Amino acid sequence: MKLNNLQDLLIHELKDIYNAEQQITKALPKMIKAASSDTLKQAFEEHLMVTEKQIERLDNVFDMMGEKAKGEKCKAMEGIIREAESMMDERADASVMDAALIASAQRVEHYEIAAYGTVCTYANQLGMKDVLNLLHQTLEEEKMTDQKLTQIAEKSINLKAGR
Ligand code: FE
Ligand code: FE
Ligand code: FE
Repeated sequence: MKLNNLQDLLIHELKDIYNAEQQITKALPKMIKAASSDTLKQAFEEHLMVTEKQIERLDNVFDMMGEKAKGEKCKAMEGIIREAESMMDERADASVMDAALIASAQRVEHYEIAAYGTVCTYANQLGMKDVLNLLHQTLEEEKMTDQKLTQIAEKSINLKAGR
């Protein structure tokens, strides 16, 4: 499809995030299993539920824009998740594995923060207030998740992982 304007590009980016979120819902259960810390498991479980809501939000956004909710393979998320999976295949002490899981999860969140930041800007410039409102809620959730993971790492996991 030829992209003629910012709205076309917005839809293109939304399809990418839609697929990225779907990939994340498949990856998180594996990360929950691989985690040892209850706090970390719980954070991942919580984010899985949040992610499912974010997908529903995107369904609504596509609806508002008169577009079919359809993903387009996000190769970047595929790569980030592939790295996480090969990390989970490593032999590692439980706390060290937890630290590695946080490192992978934060790469996911940072990709999402970049992607949602961009679509928020486009929606804002296109004057799509309702779309912006939904996308902004998700952007804030991704930022909060990232900060929470930093906190869990610094206050607990990384200390347990020792040196
Ligand atoms: Fe998300
Ligand atoms: Fe992508
Ligand atoms: Fe996320």
